Amino acid sequence: MVGQTGQLNGRGADLLQEKCGVFGVYGQDFEAARLVYPGLFSLQHRGQESTGIAASDGKKIRLHRGLGLVAHAYQEADLVFLKGHLAIGHNRYSTSGGFALSHAQPVMREDSTIGLAHNGNLPSTKALEKFLARHHVPTDESNDSEMMLDALRVLMTRGATLDEAIRDVYPLFTGAFSLLIMTRNAIAAVRDAHGLRPLSIGRLNGGYLFSSETCALDTVGAKVVRDVNPGELVIVDERGLHSVQLTRAHQHLDVFEFVYFARPDSLLLGKRVNEVRRTLGMHLAKESPRAADVVIPVPDSAIPAAEGYAEVSGIPVRTGLVKNRYIHRTFIQPEQHLREKHVEMKLNPLPEAVAGKNVIVVDDSIVRGTTSRKLVAMIRRAGAKRVHLAISSPPIRYPDFYGIDTPQQQDLIASTMSIKKITTYIGADSLQYLSFDGMIAATGLPEGVFSTSCFTGDYPIDIHERASDIVRVPAG
Ligand code: AMP
Repeated sequence: MVGQTGQLNGRGADLLQEKCGVFGVYGQDFEAARLVYPGLFSLQHRGQESTGIAASDGKKIRLHRGLGLVAHAYQEADLVFLKGHLAIGHNRYSTSGGFALSHAQPVMREDSTIGLAHNGNLPSTKALEKFLARHHVPTDESNDSEMMLDALRVLMTRGATLDEAIRDVYPLFTGAFSLLIMTRNAIAAVRDAHGLRPLSIGRLNGGYLFSSETCALDTVGAKVVRDVNPGELVIVDERGLHSVQLTRAHQHLDVFEFVYFARPDSLLLGKRVNEVRRTLGMHLAKESPRAADVVIPVPDSAIPAAEGYAEVSGIPVRTGLVKNRYIHRTFIQPEQHLREKHVEMKLNPLPEAVAGKNVIVVDDSIVRGTTSRKLVAMIRRAGAKRVHLAISSPPIRYPDFYGIDTPQQQDLIASTMSIKKITTYIGADSLQYLSFDGMIAATGLPEGVFSTSCFTGDYPIDIHERASDIVRVPAG
């Protein structure tokens, strides 16, 4: 995705950090864009700022991109225009400065020979910039995804096939990426060696599909086959599907996909996200039990954790906060005063559920602390006697460089305040985070398969020059 300040050379110093969704379809019997559309619709949670589909009928790649939600960005005429049996699509999500169509994906150059959709982020683009400079390709106006595209184009215009080009430029892609790349007659899916962002393969009526999350494969009626492995290149064309392992895999899926990002009905590393979240809540209740009258989830992402918490604690869970279904972007409002307003627009407490009660509010994470502070105040105003906050993940102390939407480190509340201070700041009677070990145990997977950088500051993929942006923070 689009890089951060410094990599977005000509487009100003806007800080763009993104998590996104990609979906691709190859099938001789399909109008592929008509399947990519519902696929992207199911991946809406991974990006709401802009969306795009590139489709090919074997002769020509056609591209349509639009701002906003999938449901708004495509008209029937666009799907008619997007002809052909192969297509890739993308939903984009960013923190600020990015409401421009020019940032939308898939990215493609004017000759329309190759399109690319990227979920992830390259913390450093130095290697790509050097390679492109050697080949006289300007990079001033390019983001990381466009540079990857340009590097592939350099080799393909010299006669390399798609898979040769990907193999050759792969070492220049220094960061996190789950990519879908298309030519007029093939789709390639490729993941970084650490598999930071998810990417799965599906099958439907003899065709192949690729999706950031399995939930979107379910939606279109496809069978989930397997993940694209970290470091693997999978190509599908008229000869079928073939795959090569480009480099040794060191699986490090971002654990935050389990905590917050992914849809609960998706499978990550073979585990249903909903079940992991429920178990996160169970561990939270076990680690420091608290007496209370009612457990209230912060909808939607913390509902399974609150259910798990209630199950173990024996405290009933109730709907105590109603979420406006039409609001999406609280977290990514660039201005703090807008962000604060949006919490109130998004959530409203139910006095009947909380008045006169000791309440345990369960949320999945605290990032800046904006949501928690507003929520605690709201629930008190609705009459709660005591408000305890329980968070189903550990304190977030480090920023992300791999395509997640988190702010700079100084804006992460747990990087500047102790838990005691955070409790005072948000105005809760108590604050309990899940322990790191409790989080890992809840996944049922070994710690080694995860990137836990936002909690630990251990970055499995070298963040190169971005390392100077972070300071080590003592736990506590
Ligand atoms: P904050 O108000 O900054 O502390 O944000 C915390 C809230 O945002 C929690 O309710 C989370 O569910 C949610 N959240 C956490 N990470 C993200 C993210 N990357 N994008 C959008 N929302 C998020």
